Amino acid sequence: MSLVIKGASLLGERTADLLVEDGVVREVGPVSAAGHDVLDADGLVALPGLVDLHTHLREPGREDAETILSGSRAAALGGYTAVLAMANTTPVTDTAEAAVRVWELGREAGLVDVHPVGAVTRGLGGEELAELGLMHRSRARVRVFSDDGKCVHDARVMRRALEYVRAFGGVVSQHAQDPALAGPASCCHEGEVSGRLGLPGWPGIAEEVIVARDVMLARHTRSRVHIAHVSTAGSVEVLRWARAQAGRDGHWAVTAEVTPHHLLLTTDLLGGYDPTYKVNPPLRPQEDVDAVREALVDGTIDAVATDHAPHARHDKEHAFVDAAFGMLGLETALGVVRTALPDLSWADVARVMSTSPARIAGLEDQGRPLEVGSPAHVVLVDPAAAPVVDRDQSASLSRNNPWHGRRLASRVVHTVHRGRVTVRDGALV
Ligand SMILES: [Zn+2]
Repeated sequence: MSLVIKGASLLGERTADLLVEDGVVREVGPVSAAGHDVLDADGLVALPGLVDLHTHLREPGREDAETILSGSRAAALGGYTAVLAMANTTPVTDTAEAAVRVWELGREAGLVDVHPVGAVTRGLGGEELAELGLMHRSRARVRVFSDDGKCVHDARVMRRALEYVRAFGGVVSQHAQDPALAGPASCCHEGEVSGRLGLPGWPGIAEEVIVARDVMLARHTRSRVHIAHVSTAGSVEVLRWARAQAGRDGHWAVTAEVTPHHLLLTTDLLGGYDPTYKVNPPLRPQEDVDAVREALVDGTIDAVATDHAPHARHDKEHAFVDAAFGMLGLETALGVVRTALPDLSWADVARVMSTSPARIAGLEDQGRPLEVGSPAHVVLVDPAAAPVVDRDQSASLSRNNPWHGRRLASRVVHTVHRGRVTVRDGALV
């Protein structure tokens, strides 16, 4: 099986053809198309396949909202070739058996690499460590652990988890939300808007105190912490400080991600009580949006991660306070990043959406440069397109799409996963 990707602009720079055989890039340069399947990439930008550190696929347990297959389809359409599937399913991914099941379902779907994230604590209960070592040693080779949806709020448990994963180079991804400062009902950034709308406040400090604590625990344990969905200027300040210190003694390993929606949407959207905009952590004011954008550009935040969170209608279409938290994100992430940060170079887009997330998750065959010998994970993007999002044109089983009706910059045209075309001309193959 051979494929020629014809006339792509590699990272928006030089134009070349890519010859792909047996899932690997064999040649870069002028390549004759004769005898090969051809992907026309004239005018398109080629990037390494995108990698999402933070996806909710809902299977097992909520197959009405998403399945591993439907989520894989949405991922491929969004230009992804690997996703990390969060552990807050039913049952929770807290055993080797559960992790292997998710991994196998991902292989059966066959569109993107699906890597299960293991729970940090049993049943996401926050008390007893899950089978971290067994999950790592299983066929699923779990390296990223998270109780996402919940914060590992007990400092002693967090310390133990960090010590445990250090032994095999794992990382704990923290959903930073101090439950005493922002409880389960908290659903709107605490400030003028929450006061006016009468919604329970979710103050930025509830995130920042956990970020500050966990960067200190990472240093103390000499282990790796990753901060999920950073949403405030205060968190950015802590991360910037921690990274500056890490340069000095070399023993701090702190990484962070931001979601597309926190790069573009603000608290002001909540005025109509539309539950589409209810998400955790909540949308923040413009000054926080500006801070996370700047942090992504300067490398204080390493990666964009979708926090793709599909929900069935009957869970989302409620009064704002009662609706489920979360938004779709896989199919629109690249367009949102291009729209929020139009001056970001394509090389930097590749860094924050592919190379860095692959490195954080320890995925050696993802996020590789487009050169001879690399696994052929490629996305081809039309930089001039600006399609309007239609929530009914989606591979996801859910419709909680905050981008419906918006024009987003650029469009994913083709996706290639391990040498196989998964998306051609914007449609699943
Ligand atoms: Zn979360």
